Amino acid sequence: MNNKRPQDVLREIFGYHEFRGFQSEVITRVCAGGDAVVLMPTGGGKSLCYQIPALLRDGVGVVVSPLIALMQDQVDALAQVGIKAGFLNSTQTRRERAAMELAYLNGEIDLLYLSPERLVMPETQELLHQGNVALFAIDEAHCVSQWGHDFRPEYLQLDVLADEWPDVPRIALTATATVATRAEIRERLRLADAEMFVASFNRPNIRYRIVPKSSELSQLVEFIQTEHAGESGIVYAMTRKRTEDIAERLRSEGVTALPYHAGLCALERRATQERFLREDGVVVVATIAFGMGIDKPDVRFVAHLDLPKSIEGYYQETGRAGRDGEPADAWMAYGLSDVVGMRRIIAGSPDERNQTRLLNAMLSLCETGECRRVEMLHYFDEDTEPCGNCDTCLQPPVLLDATVNAQKLLSTAVRLEQRSQHFGAGQIIDILRGHSTAKTTQWHHETLSTWGIGADLGDTQWRVVVRRLLADGDLSVGAHDTLRVTPSGWEVLRGNRSVQIRESVMESKPRAATGKSRSQAKDALAAVPAADRKLFTALRAWRAEVSKTDGVPAYVVFHDATLLEIAGLRPTSLTELAAVNGVGQTKLERYGAAVLEIVATQSLYETT
Ligand code: ADP
Ligand code: ZN
Repeated sequence: MNNKRPQDVLREIFGYHEFRGFQSEVITRVCAGGDAVVLMPTGGGKSLCYQIPALLRDGVGVVVSPLIALMQDQVDALAQVGIKAGFLNSTQTRRERAAMELAYLNGEIDLLYLSPERLVMPETQELLHQGNVALFAIDEAHCVSQWGHDFRPEYLQLDVLADEWPDVPRIALTATATVATRAEIRERLRLADAEMFVASFNRPNIRYRIVPKSSELSQLVEFIQTEHAGESGIVYAMTRKRTEDIAERLRSEGVTALPYHAGLCALERRATQERFLREDGVVVVATIAFGMGIDKPDVRFVAHLDLPKSIEGYYQETGRAGRDGEPADAWMAYGLSDVVGMRRIIAGSPDERNQTRLLNAMLSLCETGECRRVEMLHYFDEDTEPCGNCDTCLQPPVLLDATVNAQKLLSTAVRLEQRSQHFGAGQIIDILRGHSTAKTTQWHHETLSTWGIGADLGDTQWRVVVRRLLADGDLSVGAHDTLRVTPSGWEVLRGNRSVQIRESVMESKPRAATGKSRSQAKDALAAVPAADRKLFTALRAWRAEVSKTDGVPAYVVFHDATLLEIAGLRPTSLTELAAVNGVGQTKLERYGAAVLEIVATQSLYETT
């Protein structure tokens, strides 16, 4: 063990005066051989947490990182401060690898970067055993989470480190901080005894704004020209083509803008990165890969013209702005068409359910009427006060009181729970809208007292309400994406808390039912005694389903008058039902049981 003190290394090698946050505590623990899990936002200073212990402990610090493309940069950067480091990955020739293996065995390096794929190979582990490992640093540790935004199967095999090197300290690091991710890191990497270091994820100098898209390119140009003329920034877009088009438009407006995406050759990418780092006022228009591991402190803005796939991603990308602590902007233009586009991309992917969950949280951030920072930090399980430095705080949006709609939705979920049934958003929305499907009929959901009570909103709007309730913690997601009402949801049901939604996101009109059938439905209901309305509605919904499956018009199944009479009579046997006008023998045989079932269930719910 080197007998220098961590703060000497900090000063002498890295040239910094003080540790940031809990760097010092982490370093002390790892130097002493303890395990650690470190959660810090992008730019927080995670690297020093393992680099300094690697220098102070005997042996070589082994760093596992999935970002192969950055290893050369990281090694170069370390060389700049006089630290000898190397890497082993698939981009090297066999000879280069052999030379590096030798350097490791001879202890000529302090840090060795490895991809997870390489580390789990038996020959790599054999090699490591022949040398002396000072510590294992598992970077981007959230990649172990199957529910996260960056899952890498190889990470699951990193638990071997605990068995193979029980005496070597392990430190896992990530900028993704949800409680679920933390738990998974601990469990899957076998870090049960590790000390957990959680930094605040707040980046107070970044001002967050999410604006509705109208004419995206003009909006972007105006944002840059009025607020960031001559400053460095990153614009993120989804596709290569878009990055090129956007860069071209910016250039035509006098902005020094360069595209960056995986389709460019390595040389071009490097040249662009160099210009971005060295020149002032360069704007890079990039797909998400750009900016990872680039430590440019004075990026003054990060703009998004396409919706990020997750809050984790959004936070990481916007986190590349203002690392120097000076004011910086995170600006995004968002439109509903983006959502449609994203859903199309996600649909049918093997990971569809999970990606949908992540996207919904992102949408909820766009739609929130709350402080953006409160909402984001809440997503990372951190509480904070309204920040005064986001669009919501600076210019409070017009909010819509959606409490009644929320109550309708929550009470539907409660009624299903009372039946010991658990369903996802789609089914609950169908119930609210009175939209019969095979599945609503199968479960007799037409008989629920909340059936059709939300017909005034469209599917899209109900989904906004669901996202709001999920984001506020009024609903939680169970197995198979079923929704459950939480204690805080009960507070909404009891009227103790209100639910607010940005007016702009609820504006889009529900898909109009054809004017005729709508008014017909209204007229038909007006003639029904209030006490029978629910049952009548349930019977009609059932009829609609039968008419669809049997391929006959609804009135061929039963006339409205028949349903009305059934609703008034509430028959409890086939004999009673047979007495109703319009119920013949064949229909009695074919539909009798189903009708009695609806009547019985509905009556039960009305009395309880
Ligand atoms: P992360 O990996 O958490 O995104 P880095 O380790 O790359 O962050 O650190 C971000 C930047 O902060 C780097 O430029 C790093 O050199 C700098 N930095 C880290 N710790 C300190 C410190 N104690 N004092 C000053 N600068 C620091
Ligand atoms: Zn705010």
